[in-house]
Amino acid sequence: MELMWMTMEDVRKEQKAGTPVIVPFGTVEQHGSHLPLSTDTLQASAVASKAAERVKVIVAPPVHYGQCSSTRNHPGTVTLSGDTLRSVARDIITSFAGHGFRRIILFSGHAGRIHMAALREAAEACVQANRDLKLAVICDLDLVKEVSGDLLATPRDGHAGEIETSRMMYLHPDSVGEPPGEEYPQLPAGQVVPDPENYWPGGVWGNPRAADAEKGRIIVERSAEALSKIVEALK
Ligand SMILES: [Zn+2]
Repeated sequence: MELMWMTMEDVRKEQKAGTPVIVPFGTVEQHGSHLPLSTDTLQASAVASKAAERVKVIVAPPVHYGQCSSTRNHPGTVTLSGDTLRSVARDIITSFAGHGFRRIILFSGHAGRIHMAALREAAEACVQANRDLKLAVICDLDLVKEVSGDLLATPRDGHAGEIETSRMMYLHPDSVGEPPGEEYPQLPAGQVVPDPENYWPGGVWGNPRAADAEKGRIIVERSAEALSKIVEALK
């Protein structure tokens, strides 16, 4: 069930039935020279929709913007601050809770530390204020690594690499350009620099050339299955 197509009456019925809600979170962020800026949003939305084929859950419209750090100066990345994202997440949870929804999953297609911390902090504040709430904050990349390790040729794959390129080849093949070569960020350990793009010019973390669409399909299916189990467990 996609919230964007539901009516007020549909929502009333599902709230009474105790149906849980997934809110996908994405980013507008560079994904190398070959993937579109909304890659995280598209993946999180697709995995959430496929989870909804397995378990009864409402999928809310995605939050298209997130917090991006080391990609912030690459062309096209548009970032929120951690404070803003925390407020957005808190307001969305509070609004669903106000309508009587008790089980809410924030599902992020982006794995950045500040981004994930903002979502988790918002959820912690909400659950502290309303102990009836059952909240989960799930990072899509963590799920993928848990369920798809056997498929991946690139052990340290992350951003715009084998995983994301494979998934986008499956989900949105027309949006995928020529995959660039393997790359990893070379940021000096622990330093906070004003020009992270100079240490990571291509914006890839992993190996896009190890990607293929069939691998992408399996990763999407397995992560959807894992997400549906998390929804079921949120009792
Ligand atoms: Zn991504």
